[in-house]
Amino acid sequence: MKIYGALEAGGTKMVCSIGNENCEVLERISIPTGYPEDSIPEIINYFRSREICALGIGSFGPLDLDRKSRTYGHITSTPKPGWENYPLLPMLAEALDVPAEMDTDVNAAALAEIKMGAARGLRSCLYVTVGTGVGGGVIAEGNLVHGLVHPELGHMLLRPAEGDPTPDGFCPYHKGCLEGLAAGPAIEKRWGVSAKDLPDDHIAWKVESEYLAQMCVNAIVAFSPEKIVLGGGVMHKMHLFPMIRKRTQELLGGYVRCSMITEKIDEYIVSPGLGDNSGVTGALLLALEAEKNAR
Ligand code: ZN
Repeated sequence: MKIYGALEAGGTKMVCSIGNENCEVLERISIPTGYPEDSIPEIINYFRSREICALGIGSFGPLDLDRKSRTYGHITSTPKPGWENYPLLPMLAEALDVPAEMDTDVNAAALAEIKMGAARGLRSCLYVTVGTGVGGGVIAEGNLVHGLVHPELGHMLLRPAEGDPTPDGFCPYHKGCLEGLAAGPAIEKRWGVSAKDLPDDHIAWKVESEYLAQMCVNAIVAFSPEKIVLGGGVMHKMHLFPMIRKRTQELLGGYVRCSMITEKIDEYIVSPGLGDNSGVTGALLLALEAEKNAR
């Protein structure tokens, strides 16, 4: 049996998994994201000992994903100490001597959802994670969207929600961006209580669903995705879904006339079909692709 490696590179932990050609996860370990000189040798040792035949990486960004660039596969401008301009993809591919592919963590998750999850069979979808940060992966006409750099949906600018005591949000780069307003840490800073401890009827959720609905509206009018998949820790609060769907319809004001939005929105804005495994499955799909491209 061939063994494929999947690395989910995050700001707080590096999750290393192995899987088979059906993208079934066979084993998973988690390494804290320290300085690269501490984390990278551990990652290399793990995958080397598992004798993987290819590696897929879904990473936090921003990343250089321009294949013609000299710094292709590098992490670029992160504030994370030691990781700025770090050559993550070339470093691992060379040390492990296997074909490797890399994309953003959210693009990997979007890929998994369209191939094997909630958006299966479609040609376009948007995957957004709402957790420690907010990020979005876009698939249009069957392809992952990279464009100039790659989409940074988490930093789209929004208008203040009614009842929000901190409408400037908490992003160090922008006033009033989605991540600064709606990520888990923003909820905690705004209300002084961890998101998971806020009761379902707290006004926090009305504010949260307003921002996420604004994001859905912006995505619908900008990309016209056939499905919007919302994942991440904050979206474990399932009562947010009906609130976001209703508010999305209200904000669109009947302008986009498609039954998916006007009648079947319950099937349009949905949870990940792969649960919390979208990221790892996407990284395994990238590993499969790397192996295929190397043949
Ligand atoms: Zn921002």
